Amino acid sequence: MRAMKLTRIPFLTGSLLVLLLCATALGQAPPSEVDTHISTARAAAGQDYRGTFINLCIPNAPAGGGRGAAGRGGGGRGAARGAGAPATPDRAGWYASPYKVFDNLYWLGTRQHSSWALRTSEGIIIIDTNFAWATEPEIIDGLTKLGLNPRDIKYVIISHAHGDHDQGAAELQTRYGAKVVMGAPDWESTLQRPATAAGGVPKRDIAVGSEGTKLTLGDTTVTIVATPGHTPGTLSYVFPVKDEGRTVMVAYSGGTLTGAFGTDGSRWDEYVTSQRKIAKAAADAGASVMLSNHSEYDGAYTKARLAGLKREVGEQNPFIVGTDGVQRYFTVMAECALASKLRLGAK
Ligand SMILES: [Zn+2]
Repeated sequence: MRAMKLTRIPFLTGSLLVLLLCATALGQAPPSEVDTHISTARAAAGQDYRGTFINLCIPNAPAGGGRGAAGRGGGGRGAARGAGAPATPDRAGWYASPYKVFDNLYWLGTRQHSSWALRTSEGIIIIDTNFAWATEPEIIDGLTKLGLNPRDIKYVIISHAHGDHDQGAAELQTRYGAKVVMGAPDWESTLQRPATAAGGVPKRDIAVGSEGTKLTLGDTTVTIVATPGHTPGTLSYVFPVKDEGRTVMVAYSGGTLTGAFGTDGSRWDEYVTSQRKIAKAAADAGASVMLSNHSEYDGAYTKARLAGLKREVGEQNPFIVGTDGVQRYFTVMAECALASKLRLGAK
């Protein structure tokens, strides 16, 4: 035994050294640094943000956060680029009823993608749409089922110009005269689409630059924060909603996946900077609700169905995760991006 130890220890130490030297020579970070970021992200995610953690921190994670949910019936990521017209998938794979989730906020999503209606004293703001095939059944019929009038839609804010979030914008603009709000760089890519693109091409209304803006409709102001990264014009938001009469602040993450960044270090850096920026805006506002546009990231489909149930004493709205819960979400995004950048040797 003693002799074996004496011969094997130097061998193992030598192998490890060679591995580390190779990694350094290739411009890759030693594994420990990547692991540190992943551990931080895993701890921040806990059970609340498993889908976000898996999609961002685990290389080559299957579409849909390992659950496959977003891919089924959702058209998948390939169809999310606005090119071509995805046929309407089987309704059994995506349809969800609309739900009132706060006094003045309504969920109009499919089981995979979320669209939200924020009701103000002067009309409705739609936050993100969905694929074109979901506009009628989910947004228009959804509002009607909830006793709201689609004609009251005044603004449609698009977090980023990918088909799974923006294909409904042109129809809502044309039918109801809603003004479409988008990040300036994402308007540029949108306006280059052919007229035959799924859902059509909206006309440019309001372009938000890197300085962000505030959008006020009646008694409600949405603070729009430019968070470039997922796309160059990605927008995230902070806005108030009422929960049984009490004001609570929402943080809304506009774009998540980083799979297209490759070894372009500036894209990773921009993304991380954006997460810190929206995390700070959320903290400054005391945001305790975390929303996104994919159910796999914020559990919207599950929570929306729970929101309408009678609350027991001490229970709160399922969308309220606390100020710490909001910050943990953005920590997952930033730490996974830092890990991925190092892992890929991006410069
Ligand atoms: Zn996207």
